[in-house]
Amino acid sequence: MPSAAHRVTVIPGDGVGPEVVRSAIRVIEAAGVFIDWEEAAAGASVFEKGDTSGVPAETRDSIERTKVVLKGPLETPVGFGEKSANVTLRKLFETYANVRPARELPGVPTRYAGEGVNLVIVRENVEDLYAGIEHMVTPDVGQCLKVISRKGSEKVIRYAFELARREGRTKVTAATKANIMKMTEGLFKKVFEELALEYPEIESGHLIIDNVAHQLAKAPAQFDIIVTTNLNGDIISDLASGLVGGLGFASSGNYGDTVAIFEAVHGSAPKYAGKDVINPTALILSSVMMLRHLAETGAADRVEDAVLVTLEEGRATTQDLVRQTGGDVDTAASTTGFTDAVIANLGRSPATLGAQRGDLANQAPAMAPLPAWSYGPEHYAAIARRTIGLDIFIETDSDAGQLGVEFENLTAAGPFELRFVESRGTKVYPSVGLSSDGVRLLRARFVTRDGGPAAETDLLALQGRVAERQPGWTHVEKLHVFDGADGFTKAQGE
Ligand code: NAD
Repeated sequence: MPSAAHRVTVIPGDGVGPEVVRSAIRVIEAAGVFIDWEEAAAGASVFEKGDTSGVPAETRDSIERTKVVLKGPLETPVGFGEKSANVTLRKLFETYANVRPARELPGVPTRYAGEGVNLVIVRENVEDLYAGIEHMVTPDVGQCLKVISRKGSEKVIRYAFELARREGRTKVTAATKANIMKMTEGLFKKVFEELALEYPEIESGHLIIDNVAHQLAKAPAQFDIIVTTNLNGDIISDLASGLVGGLGFASSGNYGDTVAIFEAVHGSAPKYAGKDVINPTALILSSVMMLRHLAETGAADRVEDAVLVTLEEGRATTQDLVRQTGGDVDTAASTTGFTDAVIANLGRSPATLGAQRGDLANQAPAMAPLPAWSYGPEHYAAIARRTIGLDIFIETDSDAGQLGVEFENLTAAGPFELRFVESRGTKVYPSVGLSSDGVRLLRARFVTRDGGPAAETDLLALQGRVAERQPGWTHVEKLHVFDGADGFTKAQGE
């Protein structure tokens, strides 16, 4: 008996997208799940029509209605739209948690076969350098703003702990670069340590992201769930897919409060488009995640088992896997052939690894809603704050020493003093006795002499006087102290 109908927006996508999406739909329907698909466009074809967002209004409307998306890969063509339509979709619908499992699969030989790799990377999906706020601040210096918020961090970290609970996983590791980026990655780590206290039954720990990369290459089976910021997650999740057979096997789900988007980790692989040779496993396994999200747990288990049986049997093997095993590519199964084999195996159980069920059964929706964000204006009003100065960035041909003396003179009287002049984060004035190969962008830090609060009029007057002398000023940051803690970092060498 087919189950009740679900509505899902399907985006066939670019390159090999339509082929893998067709495979996934065939398998889902053969598993007895009835879905009312709303087909929608995004990506290259949309950019080519001059829509620079890559995601037209009809597609947005469809997703608003269905709340669930099965998506093929989207190209980011050079010369049309500027932003990736993938990132646009994830951000428009606030899918803040990008979940990428990496599990050892039967019949897929890897260096780690037999070690029991079974981990999930939960990547923050909206913020960080992916906020895409970039500027050329001089003709030669580009800058990208790394935005990390307590709210964004809390949502994804809570998601990771709740996922651990739901799947019966026992350990969550936060991976950050908090040792270097104290205000951003450091905030993520801090929020992780606070939230970990609410999940005492789950082992939690923090590792620096570079060490995580090292440990993943050395002994990946030690990891269970890794939660991390956006760019870190992007890189280590591709690394993790390499541990278990490559992009042909890597599935993912992007989860928000209301919308979830399921897609393979791989891109549009244009050289294989239309050739019926691509491995559809990644998108079929992403559909398994979608079926669980739709509370079709029985069908999800059946499809996952059928994929595992197909891989175990090794009779229908796509060319990417044949290459890895050193076989003859001419004998490889086509995309359609592999899909036929999975459909034929529906109802069979794998001999080795069973579907990753945890305690998923009978849970709908897939994830209990997370608590609403509870910080209102009164929370922020209770934080003691003072602004003690300014960082002013300046494009200049002046030597840092010259600029330092000029600013010392400028602030000889008045509420501020010059703390330092730095170049690309390293203090160059007052001199630390080392030469620095600087660029034409310097930053001068001015703080109140006694560290007390600065009046807004004094801050603006300071800014005006600096701008009069240095019309190449590019931007200004206020220096805040929140509840007694500096909201800014020192310069290197300060
Ligand atoms: P890609 O993932 O498309 O392909 C890289 C290589 O990986 C392929 O040439 C192929 O050898 C292999 N590969 C990928 N998927 C495979 C599969 N299912 N089966 C077998 N082998 C597979 O990466 P790319 O070439 O860097 O990117 C191509 C386009 O895709 C770009 O426009 C990029 O922006 C886009 N992209 C989209 C997404 C997405 O939609 N989420 C993700 C990554 C890249």
